[in-house]
Amino acid sequence: MPPVVDFHIHPLVPGAAKPWIIEWMRETYGEGLEDQLAAFADPDALAGFLRSLGVDYAVILAEDSPATTGTTSNETVAEMCAGRPMFIPFASINPNLLNRPGRELRRLVEAYEFKGLKLYPTYQFFYPNAPEIYPLYAVAEELGLPVMFHTGSSVFRGSRMKYGDPLFFDDVAVDFPDLTIIMAHSGRGFWYDRAFFLTRLHANIHMEISGIPPKRLLEHFPELERVAAKVIWGSDWPGVFNIQAGLDGVRALPLSEDAKAAILGGNAARLLRLPAE
Ligand SMILES: [Zn+2]
Repeated sequence: MPPVVDFHIHPLVPGAAKPWIIEWMRETYGEGLEDQLAAFADPDALAGFLRSLGVDYAVILAEDSPATTGTTSNETVAEMCAGRPMFIPFASINPNLLNRPGRELRRLVEAYEFKGLKLYPTYQFFYPNAPEIYPLYAVAEELGLPVMFHTGSSVFRGSRMKYGDPLFFDDVAVDFPDLTIIMAHSGRGFWYDRAFFLTRLHANIHMEISGIPPKRLLEHFPELERVAAKVIWGSDWPGVFNIQAGLDGVRALPLSEDAKAAILGGNAARLLRLPAE
């Protein structure tokens, strides 16, 4: 069996998220949330919790979105992941905050051994096919780093959905055929069809399904099995709090066992070049 890989974990470092995000989470998930978040600010506690759910690896995401959600620095993520092989560090670069994003990515990878990059167009305000972003993709392609993008909707204040249209990845996939492109949330909202079509069309485009209730997956993607080799599971914890329900939900879908194993970690393990079990 391939490992189980949670491709979408936001380390909730105290002070990183804007206060109203914590408020939103308290309203959504009730009291007791803070205690859990405080406990999981300790990376070993978070690792133990994930392991107790049967998660073998977790992609830990940095974020640099000061205009919207907040900042979890690359350094913080690197420190969390150092010496903890189950944690896979993904850097984040906000192309509106620096001039030479490609050079910064190279520096980050050399300094901290990041294994991928997460970009947040709807929170960081850029079109994914904008020419000024292309140097970043060139470096990611050269270094073999997968790039995951937030796509589609967000409950978070100030995000601008126009930047989250999967159609922009048609350009990126054509211009960088060896770049691994991962669409977080698979165009959530009204672009599911686009996300699915692009995943079928381009060998280097993948769908990540965090933040979509598993029981809705086959409504949004009736032919999910056909692209199962390019579908990646993630929880989006702690924005989506119940990781166990997410895992159980995918396991309960009427898909082949091979497809489910691929979605829950086999595909991620291949893209991240994780050691074979
Ligand atoms: Zn997320």
